[in-house]
Amino acid sequence: MILIVVEHANGKVSKSTWEMVTAARELGREAPITALVLGSAIASIAAEIATAVDQVLVADLPALAQYDPELWSAAVAQIATEGEASLLLIGGSRSGREYSPRVAIKLDAPLLEDVISLKANGDTLTAQHYTYLARVTETIEATGPIVVATIKPGIFNPATPRAESPAEQFDVDLNLPAPRVQVTGKTAERSSRVSLAEAEIVVSGGRGVGSAEGFTQYVEALADQLGAAVGATRAIVDAGWRPYSEQVGQTGKTVQPKLYIAIGISGAVQHLSGMNKSKIIVAINRDAEAPIFKIADYGIVGDVPQLVPAILAELKK
Ligand SMILES: Cc1cc2nc3c(=O)[nH]c(=O)nc-3n(C[C@H](O)[C@H](O)[C@H](O)COP(=O)(O)OP(=O)(O)OC[C@H]3O[C@@H](n4cnc5c(N)ncnc54)[C@H](O)[C@@H]3O)c2cc1C
Repeated sequence: MILIVVEHANGKVSKSTWEMVTAARELGREAPITALVLGSAIASIAAEIATAVDQVLVADLPALAQYDPELWSAAVAQIATEGEASLLLIGGSRSGREYSPRVAIKLDAPLLEDVISLKANGDTLTAQHYTYLARVTETIEATGPIVVATIKPGIFNPATPRAESPAEQFDVDLNLPAPRVQVTGKTAERSSRVSLAEAEIVVSGGRGVGSAEGFTQYVEALADQLGAAVGATRAIVDAGWRPYSEQVGQTGKTVQPKLYIAIGISGAVQHLSGMNKSKIIVAINRDAEAPIFKIADYGIVGDVPQLVPAILAELKK
């Protein structure tokens, strides 16, 4: 079987999980696609993912209420072994990148990391990922009775539910180690905005917004008006105008919203690779020769301080 470890948050299956389902389906293997849901009080998550896979394994335990790499790796390795999985897909989130090497070691399996494409050729899996600070795309192959792969978020299209009736769910027993690390406090970043990875609209700003204040005045204002997430270029993250969590591009996040609005962004290849799969791209730049216009569906040549307030005023009407 192909085993997908379901990523979920706030009672919902995360977009990264639907992307892993696509990665699994595109392999075209006969093996059933199985989702493994780990956590506590996760019935709704199991029911949600059951609409897209062949079977669902559920480990609904109080001990799994809190993510812990030791427990996650023990649980996933155990289920992969018992189910004789041939491929194990783990999200390329911070936690996925943390526990996947532990799983690979427990299974004595090869690990394909931060995968952006995945193909099966008989028993061999061929994947691509970025390397050397994303300057190089590397092609890698792995063979073995079981291969572990982490899937870079935002690359594969999210899968849609299938028409058939939902997959059967099975409760699994786990032999978990005693937790050795406790989470004693959590401070969440306060933001009323949708997350960059999940957003249908992203408004991003670059150096052309002029300053950190300009970003708030133009990019955040437009994002709030549209109910969008905000993104940034590396240039302004490096300048300290915005946090790294908002960086879009090869060394930041990959997004593919329905609408991407690029304000004062030149369109360097490293930025484009993080957003060029967006359905509609709108660019605002005063330089008509800026590379961003080569991939934009709609381009407005002009000055940010003039154009964005005019757009905001129109939207408010
Ligand atoms: C290894 C590596 C990895 C990288 N990873 C990333 C990454 O993940 N993400 C990323 O974004 N970059 C990344 N970069 C950096 C990238 O090469 C560019 O330097 C960066 O994207 C440029 O950001 P920018 O568009 O904000 O700035 P600039 O290139 O300076 O562009 C600013 C644009 O604003 C326009 N402008 C200026 N004033 C106005 C105005 N008043 N009104 C309208 N338009 C105006 C200008 O015409 C210009 O086109 C990486 C680079 C390297 C080497």
